[in-house]
Amino acid sequence: MEDNYILGLDIGGTSIKAGIVNQWGGIKSFQTIPTNSHQGPDHVLAAINTLIQSYQGQKLINGIGIALAGSIDNKAGVCIYSPNLNWRNIAIGKIIEESTGLEVRLINDANAACLGEYFFGAGRNQNNIICIIIGTGIGSAIILDNKLFTGNSGLAPEAGHMVLIKDGPQCSCGGKGCWETLVSASAIVKRVAEKSKSGTYTISPHTIQDIFKAWQAGDCQVVKIMTEVKEYLALGLANLVNIFDPECIVLGGGIIELDSGLTEGLEDMVKEFVFPSFKDTLLIRKAELGNKAGLVGGASLFLKESELNE
Ligand SMILES: [Zn+2]
Repeated sequence: MEDNYILGLDIGGTSIKAGIVNQWGGIKSFQTIPTNSHQGPDHVLAAINTLIQSYQGQKLINGIGIALAGSIDNKAGVCIYSPNLNWRNIAIGKIIEESTGLEVRLINDANAACLGEYFFGAGRNQNNIICIIIGTGIGSAIILDNKLFTGNSGLAPEAGHMVLIKDGPQCSCGGKGCWETLVSASAIVKRVAEKSKSGTYTISPHTIQDIFKAWQAGDCQVVKIMTEVKEYLALGLANLVNIFDPECIVLGGGIIELDSGLTEGLEDMVKEFVFPSFKDTLLIRKAELGNKAGLVGGASLFLKESELNE
């Protein structure tokens, strides 16, 4: 087989990651640059073009696969809305095709990370997987019978917005008590800050790293919060298992990578809430591709085209 090199990009609110991906999912020349989304779409697009130019000429690139944090019309190559980037209706596919002369394919970043893990990472050799990425919020993606499930609108799933507590904490979506208001990094930081401010707790960690350190050190106030966080994490995962009966859940994202103990014993906790028939086969795995899953998944739109279109 002839070498097939695809440039993979992962455009997030904080950083843009890029690398050349080969047909086995191997990455060469990985780079990351700040997004600086506050400078506006034109500035970000110019920075992306400069980044792409640095790759053109290195290898014969056959296409550009882009994972982007937001709602995507992948057929039209348009970012419909991205709160992280503050973009609305940006025809990024066409813009980059015109500036590079290469074909561009676009996908939502959670779906991209899921495809990356499905083809080349922790979800290999599985037919039904759920990928949950926990960072500032919760990204989610589902592969059913080897196909991405994107619902009626093409924008599903939004597992982070399943409601676990009626009238719970306010969510960025306008709702209350969504899963991501209970277990995301920002939710945990907010919760600890509120407890500290109200004088309920004496702890004063400000970042998720500080909180996890205090948790590992056995700080009983943080342990109390994190025990609840972990229960809600397990509850949400169990709800998904009860609906989709996946072979495997792949967990990734910043707070999973911190290796804090969040995943320790989690499989057993999830099984406590799971329908009996699904208990024996369920696997929970940590993502293997780390922060490169998105760009690899973007590249897989070309590299695994035949399997995706089967
Ligand atoms: Zn929500």
